[in-house]
Amino acid sequence: MDGSDRPMAAGGVNRENGVFVDNAWQPASSGRTLDLIEPATGRRFAAIAAGDSRDVDRAVTAARGAIDGPWGRLDAADRGRLLSRLAGLIADHAEDLAALEARDTGKPLGQARADIDTAARYFEFYGGAADKVHGQTIPYRSGWLALTERMAHGVTGHIIPWNYPAQMVGRTLAPALAMGNATVLKPAEDACLTALRLAELAREAGFPAGAINVVPGRGEVAGAALSRHPGVDFLSFTGSPEVGTQVQVAAARRHAGCVLELGGKSPQIVFSDADLDLAVPAIVAAIVQNAGQTCSAGSRVLVDRHVEAELSERLAQAFRTLVSGPPEADCDLGPLINLTQKRRVTRFCDLAEMAGVPLIAEGALDARAKPDGFYVTPRLYGPVPRDHPMAREEIFGPILSLMPFSDEDDAVALANGTDYGLVAGIWSRDGTRALGVARRIAAGQVFVNGYGAGSGVELPFGGVGKSGHGREKGLDALFEFSASRTLVIAHG
Ligand code: NAD
Repeated sequence: MDGSDRPMAAGGVNRENGVFVDNAWQPASSGRTLDLIEPATGRRFAAIAAGDSRDVDRAVTAARGAIDGPWGRLDAADRGRLLSRLAGLIADHAEDLAALEARDTGKPLGQARADIDTAARYFEFYGGAADKVHGQTIPYRSGWLALTERMAHGVTGHIIPWNYPAQMVGRTLAPALAMGNATVLKPAEDACLTALRLAELAREAGFPAGAINVVPGRGEVAGAALSRHPGVDFLSFTGSPEVGTQVQVAAARRHAGCVLELGGKSPQIVFSDADLDLAVPAIVAAIVQNAGQTCSAGSRVLVDRHVEAELSERLAQAFRTLVSGPPEADCDLGPLINLTQKRRVTRFCDLAEMAGVPLIAEGALDARAKPDGFYVTPRLYGPVPRDHPMAREEIFGPILSLMPFSDEDDAVALANGTDYGLVAGIWSRDGTRALGVARRIAAGQVFVNGYGAGSGVELPFGGVGKSGHGREKGLDALFEFSASRTLVIAHG
């Protein structure tokens, strides 16, 4: 998205100019569209509808109607079947979806393929789980039966970012639908074509009208309208801490619940006894994936001083082999999403240079990369001073900071020393130490001798502090998208 919007072109209503409400593309009330810019070329390549509060209103009404209609009457097993059918359709269309995702986001085709697999896996996982969420019976006073059941929130609003559009749809919509909520999705204006396509596939899978509604548009227009809408019972937001705060305030004003999945500054903690053959490729992959535009990117390497020189040299060798290129070239990484993001990442590098932080190594640009693409080559800096912005702020680019620590306590203090707490990696052959340290880390996910940035639909995921609150993924998400109802029955 480059900020330009234009009147809707003549012709039918479709994915390029419509909002998806009640299982149909409907004209956006504004009559306007937003341009989508291809990250690899810097040129306009598609458009989406500029949805606004009127479209959000229509979508919420449709969702409410679905709850009161056929969707609300489905058995849990039938909801699960629909989710599983959608998983199958995503797999059937995987190659087309991957090509669309790669072009829209700029990511290498191989990474886009993996993302589409994961999107399908979300629907498969929650399809299977839909009819397995049980309540409890509670020993209460004699003459009474007390039990709980999970009830859907009702209409759930979902606001997602541009970095993993298809995966995000699966992550946030699948558990909400499994629990019987009717959903309204506001995808990101920078990349959302697969999200729109998935809505069509959901209709093909047989989801009743109103169960899934999608209103593309600007965040401060369509997103803000969705977060403020009195008919939305629960909000799921993934994005920046700044916007997350606004969404939470909007939810709080009408006493609606919300789950916030925000940013990260995730540490990789490398002890002197770490297996570096294992650690180095995983550390590099965790910052290269999606060109570092991953909330769970392992963007800080905290290393025991005794192995700092060796790790630095090994990482440098790996970084020098990295290549950025266009999606179809399937290099290690692609361009960043837009010019704003490129400038933001470059500013961190400028700040590092001004402060005299050494640039240890840098990757290269593929010859096929267009000059107007939003490329930033991967860079390794170190040692980065602990108070430097590069060490504390989320960069959301392929920039890795190396920082030495003196002992275990120092490592833990450094790891916990930012406002974020999303994911951490610990590398050590000493299982006792690794486990002890893992349990002192303030983060929602901690990996030991491995690092799965964003992987594993089975694994509950979420943050503490500025990384947000609540959990998506895994079975935890089913509890996030439902509430318990206690039934207490007197029987004599
Ligand atoms: P963003 O907050 O600008 O946008 C996210 C979404 O919010 C988009 O759909 C956008 O249109 C919408 N939005 C923007 N302004 C809004 C408003 N005033 N009201 C309601 N909605 C609004 O974030 P971004 O730049 O798209 O994404 C990058 C950020 O997202 C990073 O901080 C990253 O760490 C975070 N992120 C977190 C996770 C996670 O799971 N924790 C995953 C991906 C990205």
